[in-house]
Amino acid sequence: MDKKRRRFDWSLLGCALSGHVLYAPDESALRERLTVRTAGGVTWRCLRCADFVPVADRTEPPSGPAQDAPLVKRGAEMRDAVLLRFFAVERWVRGVLLLAAAYVVHRFAGRQDELRQAFDQAAPVVRQVFGKAGFDLQHSRTLELLQKAVDAKPTTLTWIVIALVAYAVVEVIEGVGLWLLHRWGEYFAFVATGMFLPLEVYELTHHVSALKVGTFALNLLLVVYLVWTKRLFGVRGGKRAYDAQRHAESLLEVEQAATG
Ligand SMILES: [Zn+2]
Repeated sequence: MDKKRRRFDWSLLGCALSGHVLYAPDESALRERLTVRTAGGVTWRCLRCADFVPVADRTEPPSGPAQDAPLVKRGAEMRDAVLLRFFAVERWVRGVLLLAAAYVVHRFAGRQDELRQAFDQAAPVVRQVFGKAGFDLQHSRTLELLQKAVDAKPTTLTWIVIALVAYAVVEVIEGVGLWLLHRWGEYFAFVATGMFLPLEVYELTHHVSALKVGTFALNLLLVVYLVWTKRLFGVRGGKRAYDAQRHAESLLEVEQAATG
């Protein structure tokens, strides 16, 4: 077993989740390299996991010229996709929470006496519940901010609502960009996430909690991961090197080079 085999194979995960990718190219030399006749029948090589997959007799995978073959994510690219989509979902959850917060502030704008009452009643309970769950809200900036919002002027509240909605929109766009795995999305995520890192450092100097450290670590990881693996801003050869690496990982292109 060689070294490469022992590492976790992300391509296999892709095939397990969405099935093998089989393709019969028109070019006969290339076609030969992708298919093997065995005693059990015909097998075609999967363009993602590179395993030979048996197909029933007389059935053929979709065919066409090699250049029209489906572009499949393999290996490192597959890992990138899984990780970035995890971050995308996490950003969407944040967006929804921010919108909910905006809604609450908006609803209570102009009815601050009620809000004050509700807050005074809820705050100790919220602290207790979160305290039991391991979150330390005693020193929560968010609760402090809410406390300030309770005492704020209606115009201030309007600005808070606008800021919360704007932040939510940024998070949702970031999520979409990361989910689609587009290069603009990666740059957008870099800027939107990186922008808040200094603020998170400032928060940590104010008070350290597991949640804050976790959030900071996760965001820092995303920013570094994006720059390093996606080669943003020309790092490690930039987009040109990134595309070259993708092509080098394409099974069809490797096989095609071998036929030429
Ligand atoms: Zn496969």
